[in-house]
Formats: sequence, structure tokens, C-alpha cells
Amino acid sequence: MKKIKSIVWDVETQNDFIMPEGTISVPGAYEMIENFGKAIYHFQKKGILTLGSVDAHTGPELIPGTKDQYFPLHCIKGTKGQQKIASTQADILYVSDNKYSDDALDLVVNEVMDGRRVYIEKQGLNLLSNPNTIDLIEKLGVEEVYLMGVATNICVKEAYDAFKDMQKKVYLIHSAIKGLDIPGNTEKEGLEYMLKSGAEMYRF
Ligand SMILES: [Zn+2]
Repeated sequence: MKKIKSIVWDVETQNDFIMPEGTISVPGAYEMIENFGKAIYHFQKKGILTLGSVDAHTGPELIPGTKDQYFPLHCIKGTKGQQKIASTQADILYVSDNKYSDDALDLVVNEVMDGRRVYIEKQGLNLLSNPNTIDLIEKLGVEEVYLMGVATNICVKEAYDAFKDMQKKVYLIHSAIKGLDIPGNTEKEGLEYMLKSGAEMYRF
């Protein structure tokens, strides 16, 4: 089967995170709406496909490592807040967080090979909270990942950790990531952590 060496991974560019009226609006992310679309287009011109993840919550989500710190309700499946922003919207095939059979995943892989955008739905912060993520990435043959989206120090960092554990080379798309400072976890710290442990910044 054909392999896909490089991908863009679009992390949670959804209304609740990006729009000013979103329930966890990342400061400054709204001003970057065009950048998110431009990043996808930049790689598309090079023949590099975009995949990604969306929060698809059915209830509250906890910030791990803190006591009683809940995020506000966000990205509840089926709401406008859960939908992707226009600049990263496309004809997307979503992979639910039910465990897919090998055959079902092969069908998803075929869609990607045909140029379809595929996004995994997730409940937790980490993209491995969808049990299909690793199998999908490995079946595609991915070796390097260009990360974009929000928030740099939260879900982008979680995605970085997941891809690093899968031994993938990770690049951060400079113009298309944005952080959200929360107690004990800042954008600056998240960036430093990733850049010191193997990520590289990608500018275009
Ligand atoms: Zn969430």
C-alpha cells in the first residue's frame, strides 16, 4: 500500500476555541483565522495532506493534574461551538472514538489516500483518547507531522507528546499555533518544552 510520509495535523480549530464568543476562546486566535487556512493551503500546494482532531465532548472535561479545575463546557457534539471554523472546514470524514475494526480503518486509510481530510473525534485532551489514532497514523506510514491549531501549551502539546511517542518528527507551524495560559501552564512553557525535546519551528 502507498505511504504518506508527511501530514499536517490540525488541532481543534473549532468555534468554541477560536471565535470570540466561544466558551474557551483562545486570546488572539480569532485574528489568526486566515493563517490557519493559509497553512493548510501552503502544504496542500506541496501535496501534503491535512488531517487532525476535533473535540467532540458529551460532557465536562477535567484539566489533569489540577484539583477540581474543570474547563467550561465546550465543543459539545452537535453544537455550533463544536463545528470547525470556516477556514479549516472541508469535506471531512470524522473517525469516532469507538474502536474501529482493521477493515474499517483500512477504508479510512483509503479515503486519506484519495485526498480526503480525516479528523479524529476525541473526548480527552490527548489524541490518544481516540483508540484509532495510532493505528491510523501507522497504517498511513506517517514519518513527520506539521502541527497547527490550539492551544499550543495544551492540546497541541498533547498531540506533540503523542507523535513523539510514536517516533515521529514534529514541526510546529509558527503562524498557525496559539496558546492559552492557564494556572501552572503557559504558552511560553509549552513552546519551550516542545522545542527543547525535539520539535522544530516551521516558518513559511
Ligand atoms: Zn476539550
